[in-house]
Amino acid sequence: MIDTHCHLADKRFDRDRDLVLDRARHAGVTHLVEIAYAPAIVEKAHAIAAVHPWVSICVGVHPGESGKVPDAYLDTLRGHARHPRVVAIGETGLDFYRDHAPRADQERWFRAQAGLADELGLPLVIHQRSALAETLAVLEEMRPAAGGVLHCFDDGPAVVERARALGFKLGLGGCLTYGHAALEEAVQAAPADMLVLETDSPYLEPEPRSLRRNEPGLLARVLPRLCALRGWTPAEADRITTANARALFRLPAGA
Ligand SMILES: [Zn+2]
Repeated sequence: MIDTHCHLADKRFDRDRDLVLDRARHAGVTHLVEIAYAPAIVEKAHAIAAVHPWVSICVGVHPGESGKVPDAYLDTLRGHARHPRVVAIGETGLDFYRDHAPRADQERWFRAQAGLADELGLPLVIHQRSALAETLAVLEEMRPAAGGVLHCFDDGPAVVERARALGFKLGLGGCLTYGHAALEEAVQAAPADMLVLETDSPYLEPEPRSLRRNEPGLLARVLPRLCALRGWTPAEADRITTANARALFRLPAGA
């Protein structure tokens, strides 16, 4: 399996990061994408990737960080994005649920990163909360050429159709175990080539939410839900979602 979205640089992994990565391998995770969503995280993400060749990096400015990051950082971000271990731009988008940054700052950084993704031919990792209409409107206007993923997808079938038209995939993780009816319907209706797995570790632990911290190895709790909804065997679900993630991030064949 490939965990397409995690935050292992988070300080909640400082004490046992290598054990967490060990457990991920034992659970069948062959590759993961570390999301370095703020300037201060990029160096730590590279330090992790330097030791673990099966870690790729996504660089960007999270909507919640967008009020703190000066516009001049875009040039630095362009440099970060050209590193060979970097496979995507983000996570970016709009978050109107938490009021961590003015909407104008969020939208300016969202558009700047969509433009950068196009310039470099990289996919976009989209974070959206309580801002679905506004986020889709920007994407449908800008139509990023390399597509991307709607991270932490938790919406219904109508959104699947709009994401498909944009060439976007759906990031499925802990939410899939929370019994959200519209999401389950969406996952059943979506074309198989749109589905990728993610954890968003350390957030969004899958049920039974017993550890109070998510980690990539807990994809093993998500896969059975996906199998039940799609009628797939675990091997099929693994093969299909892995192929989709490889295609999206253009990961090497061994990933
Ligand atoms: Zn994230």
